[in-house]
Amino acid sequence: MDHYQRSARNAFSACIIDRQTEMRADAGSISALAAAADARFLLIHERCCLLRKTDHAMLLLPQPPADSTTCYLGLRQQQPLFAVQLQQASEAARLAAAMAGQWVDLRTAAGTVSADEAGIIAYAIAVFNWQQRHRFCGSCGSPNTQLDGGHRMHCSNPACAQITFPRIDPAMITLIEHDDAILLGRQENWPQRRYSTLAGFVEPGESIEDAVRREVMEEAGVVLDTIHYHSSQPWPFPGSLMLGFRTTASSTQIRLGAELADARWWHLHEFEQSLQSGQLLLSIPQSIAFALISDWYHEHTGRNLGDIVAEI
Ligand SMILES: [Zn+2]
Repeated sequence: MDHYQRSARNAFSACIIDRQTEMRADAGSISALAAAADARFLLIHERCCLLRKTDHAMLLLPQPPADSTTCYLGLRQQQPLFAVQLQQASEAARLAAAMAGQWVDLRTAAGTVSADEAGIIAYAIAVFNWQQRHRFCGSCGSPNTQLDGGHRMHCSNPACAQITFPRIDPAMITLIEHDDAILLGRQENWPQRRYSTLAGFVEPGESIEDAVRREVMEEAGVVLDTIHYHSSQPWPFPGSLMLGFRTTASSTQIRLGAELADARWWHLHEFEQSLQSGQLLLSIPQSIAFALISDWYHEHTGRNLGDIVAEI
């Protein structure tokens, strides 16, 4: 399995769409696509999407609601697909009732819609999150206006005219191994039994591999030996790109940093027993943390981690 295939298994990474990035600057073409009979509009409201109540399928409108913010996502099965951001709660409630739908947050939706639909919804929410956080120019403070089908911001102050492209925050996440054990940590605000892989944001002037070494040292005081890239995952909470790694530790000595309430090694047998007894809780199956642990578990046992978690 190569990296492309590995990433495609991660939730929000299987978005099958032709983004048509070369067309975005042509406002006339975007307008024509929006007016096309086969155009469809995905509805987003407060980081939630509208799913049909009965079968949790993604609901699409043939026309955008009035006074809504749209973003051109691209061609999906040759159909122009736009995302619509609804501002008013009353309009969101009216549309949900009219379409027999319900508003569902992205994490919940990822567990019910298809992988392709989850990727599309995550894509739309990521763009709207960025738009929401860049309504004003970061250079002069003037209001920004949207260009390129919602994928570019332009400062309205002619003396500034700064262009802003979507911001993505790279973050590393790693499964740390030593012999048949893995290191998992717990943050202070998590439930007592929940542990996960270590993660952190990349700093300016730092390679992603340096960030892996630094974060693991800061959080657990563990020196890493080898670092291997595993896969990536868009994580629009609100705008991250998770870069997953498998790493090995030089030793099992732990020196807990300020960011974690606990960190400990789980040997394979203990890991399996604790998971089955409910003494250990992992991150949601849609997370790259779960994918990293799942691959390690499958390599050692030939069994699927998802089956064990489902039994609890
Ligand atoms: Zn400006």
